[in-house]
Amino acid sequence: MRIGGLLPFTTIDYPGRLAAVVFCQGCPWRCDFCHNTHLLFENGEMKFTWEEVLRCLATRKGLLDAVVFSGGEPTLQEPLSAAIGEVREMGFLAGLHTAGAYPEKFEPLVPLLDWVGMDIKAPFEEYEMVTGISGSGDKAYESANILIRSGIPCEFRTTLHPMMMEDGGSRLMHMAHDLKNMGAKHFVIQKYHPSGEKAPSPSFPFQSVGGVIDSVSALFDSFYIRL
Ligand code: SF4
Repeated sequence: MRIGGLLPFTTIDYPGRLAAVVFCQGCPWRCDFCHNTHLLFENGEMKFTWEEVLRCLATRKGLLDAVVFSGGEPTLQEPLSAAIGEVREMGFLAGLHTAGAYPEKFEPLVPLLDWVGMDIKAPFEEYEMVTGISGSGDKAYESANILIRSGIPCEFRTTLHPMMMEDGGSRLMHMAHDLKNMGAKHFVIQKYHPSGEKAPSPSFPFQSVGGVIDSVSALFDSFYIRL
């Protein structure tokens, strides 16, 4: 595993559970509003070895419920399956944050996981505008379907980055209907926190899509806004 960071304690990255987050290096996409640009390159600086992560986790048995693999795009890493197995053997629940860039790698991982949070970047047919990568929407669509079909606990979440706000919320509504029609039950909207080189400095207020958010929330069994 190539590890770009470790958050030893969080209450927000695995809903309802106390968790540690392992930030995996590498992502095949180049989103304009990426919040983790330091993790984009697979061969970037390794902050921790996997053995160091395991030693840290061993000191947190009984204190944490779960370990979440985040990134970057964790499914890029071939040893992820074994790493998930190791944290589960230690007694932790295993969570994954993914953008769904590798449906063929994601599908065999799903049965090993206890929970998945999948980022939805834009309406599937408009992904390239956000990720810069042709075909990325098809990959995300396939991964989202795999996740929904699996029936494991999951959430779909969308960050209200500037592109999502510029049309008064019609993209957001479109995405929400797509997810609803695919069978998604849980949807989260996340506040955009600018960082990274390409991001503009001002934060974007929710008020500009407030009415749309009410309509979106009515589509799902559970919906909330993560600030
Ligand atoms: S998928 Fe996530 S990690 Fe990859 S470029 Fe987009 S925001 Fe950054």
